[in-house]
Amino acid sequence: MGNDNGFLSLAGCDDERVGGIVGLLVGDALGVSFEFHNAASIPARELIEMTPPPGFQTAHSGVSPGTWSDDGSQAICLLASLLQCGRFSLSDFAQRLLQWADEGYMAVDGDVFDIGIQTSRALQRLREGKSPRESGGSGERDNGNGSLMRVLPLALWHPGSDRAVVGAAHVQSLPTHAHPRSQVACAIYSLVARAYLWKLDDPWTWADARLQAVYEQWADEASARTFLAELDVLRQFLKTETPRGTGYVLDTLLTAKTALEEGTFQGVARAAIQFGNDTDSTAAVACGLAGLSFGIDGIPTRWLDQLRGFDLIESLLDMLAKRPTPEPFEDDEWGGGGVDGMPSVLIDWSEARERRRRAR
Ligand SMILES: [Mg+2]
Repeated sequence: MGNDNGFLSLAGCDDERVGGIVGLLVGDALGVSFEFHNAASIPARELIEMTPPPGFQTAHSGVSPGTWSDDGSQAICLLASLLQCGRFSLSDFAQRLLQWADEGYMAVDGDVFDIGIQTSRALQRLREGKSPRESGGSGERDNGNGSLMRVLPLALWHPGSDRAVVGAAHVQSLPTHAHPRSQVACAIYSLVARAYLWKLDDPWTWADARLQAVYEQWADEASARTFLAELDVLRQFLKTETPRGTGYVLDTLLTAKTALEEGTFQGVARAAIQFGNDTDSTAAVACGLAGLSFGIDGIPTRWLDQLRGFDLIESLLDMLAKRPTPEPFEDDEWGGGGVDGMPSVLIDWSEARERRRRAR
């Protein structure tokens, strides 16, 4: 891949992981123009484009259309860290987050124009020498979507078991969002992403059951109880609340899940943004999964054409695509066929794999 057509040069790439990462960036960039507006003041669906309609007041007036924000930059920090370290290194990832905030690393034009309050406070604690395991806010009110919006690359890169992915998703949340609710949200989203990658029938139901099974086998009993209780809070929220597009981590999950009921990438992106409020993060979270589902060729070419920053990510996408796609574990002790020998969660893996082969 790669020429001076930027993201358009990815046309025909059938690697779902590339679709997922680019989908996240497109959703973020599309949502940037509409951020901080409530649903009632978002333009009609067909007017949701990289350039908003004339007269619409964007929150970031100096930012060129097609520019991703903190969501995209932090996700690329994670992707770069994973690919360049060859493993998940919390200290390396945290350093890159600081480098983003302080030097514009992985920001288009090196311009950091959008940083969440919780993230900003946590990064200050990192700067002052706190360990990344302890720098994140850990109160119940510290559950913004700042770690959820960037976690996708972990799910797409990780070659290990579901349990290993869950553990790493928890840890990647810590530097900025240390409350178990944020950790559980990152974990379930990572499993949903795997389910999309593997073309399972019902990604959310599968991820829910899988996460329950992983927590039931968690080594530390006290943590297991905490995570299971938070999984119940999450389930209750998804079942009973109305999506509002706010920056609360559970609302972001619910709003993205609702938007994903649309049948096209464009539909998902516009639906996510129509909820208003934290439009860029909601659309990043939804469109990462939509990109996995519909692939690069499902993303409107005008959006690929308008997306900026290809030079920052081109070689990383190339490295990612060269890695074997993570496969479900069947008989391993960490197993997709069961955590530590538990029965598998309603999945016939050979059938799932066959479906995936047919779909490519
Ligand atoms: Mg943002």
